[in-house]
Amino acid sequence: MGFRYPVVLDLEGRRCVVVGGGTVAEHKVRGLLEAGAVVIVVAQEATDGLTALAGDGAVALVSRPYRPGDLEHAFLAIAATDDTAVNAEVFGEARQRGVLLNAVDDSQHCDFAAPSVVRRGDLSISVSTAGQAPALARRLREVLGRQFGDEWGELVAVLASAREEALAGREAGFAEWARRWQHALSYDLAGMVRDGRVDEVAALVRDVLVGGAQPRPGRVAIVGAGPGDPGLISVRGRDLIAGADVVVYDRLVHPSLWAGKEAIDAGKEAGSHPLPQDEINALLVRLAGEGWQVVRLKGGDPFVFGRGAEEAEALAAAGIPFEVVPAPTSAVAALAAAGIPVTDRRHASSVAVVTGHCADAVDWDRLATGADTLVVLMGLGHIGEIVGRLLAAGRDPATPSAVVENGTLPAQRVVTAPLAGLPDAVAAAGIASPAIIVVGDVVQLRERLGAAYR
Ligand code: SAH
Repeated sequence: MGFRYPVVLDLEGRRCVVVGGGTVAEHKVRGLLEAGAVVIVVAQEATDGLTALAGDGAVALVSRPYRPGDLEHAFLAIAATDDTAVNAEVFGEARQRGVLLNAVDDSQHCDFAAPSVVRRGDLSISVSTAGQAPALARRLREVLGRQFGDEWGELVAVLASAREEALAGREAGFAEWARRWQHALSYDLAGMVRDGRVDEVAALVRDVLVGGAQPRPGRVAIVGAGPGDPGLISVRGRDLIAGADVVVYDRLVHPSLWAGKEAIDAGKEAGSHPLPQDEINALLVRLAGEGWQVVRLKGGDPFVFGRGAEEAEALAAAGIPFEVVPAPTSAVAALAAAGIPVTDRRHASSVAVVTGHCADAVDWDRLATGADTLVVLMGLGHIGEIVGRLLAAGRDPATPSAVVENGTLPAQRVVTAPLAGLPDAVAAAGIASPAIIVVGDVVQLRERLGAAYR
């Protein structure tokens, strides 16, 4: 239950003692030097690196084993020996003198754990597992390091100077000051810095801190959530959700993508339409009109049978600023997850993506042999009719075909059959929506990719 109180220490000019002279000790010494500490190394034997540092006068090297008294006047100490008995001795002295101690890989003899750190200028993001799973801490540091680029360090510097300027003439009380900061930070400041708009960020933050929160124009981002697996959304889409005031989501969107956000369900299910499209359009216009940052989160890609274009048009007509963020469409990605590429140099040089929602609205005669691969979305309910039309229009009854249910999700199921037998095979398997029908020679590639895939 220890190691619960995180701190970031200022070691500038402070005396720090490292006991031990191996590579771990050297690593610790370099970290301390970077923090501006005055470093004394006590070690009978030292690495070449440490010897060189001592030669340059960067550290003081005391070439003998540790002995009591070595921690005199120290602020902090690190025991980097493999010898628990020595660690215990150093720990005893540290306790007696009130010196903060870390014994490497020996949490019994530690006052503090050394976290893994992502450093971007003055921003540090530390990960600590209280010394229990250091490899995991390093892994998380890598994940965070990829998420937080150099712009975050630059942002800290810009905010610091804006803060200093605004503080000089500060009139706002504490609560108002905090509110202004929240308002300023609701903008995508890191993104602006990344785009080289540093001056704009500085001016914006200064204006908000000095002049108060300006009424901010609302915006809508129509974001594709990807085919099902929440890992398949874009980085931009995820960032926009993080910064949104409200998320308006569809039925097929994975709930983890909007968890913890203010969220409105606009889910539509065939037959029962909880929110008609014109009401969704009106809702988006109203929310943005009230100044909210809105994310409209839609399954797959917003512009593939998602009615994203109608929403975009409604926003354009109302003069609401908006953007559209694409994502993998289930028409490609759900099939890929089932081992079915929609094109292949040997089997298919064309692909048609078709709606089966209203089987009469499609010219099946023209399509039946018009594209090598046919991908039918929203067609499960009419599968018998659709297959009948394709056969009548001359598509070979033996054409390899499949239905993919819940593509990319853990519940994914695939049924394959020659085209003529597909409706019966799907009924026998009890396949339910969401599902995609695919017809074409590429379906046989699924067998060839085999068990090694996935
Ligand atoms: N814009 C979406 C499609 C919306 S239409 C996209 O680009 O993917 C909804 C239809 O998509 C469903 O009826 C089903 O045919 C298909 N679909 C969506 N997600 C699916 C999934 N994970 N597995 C199988 N089919 C899916």
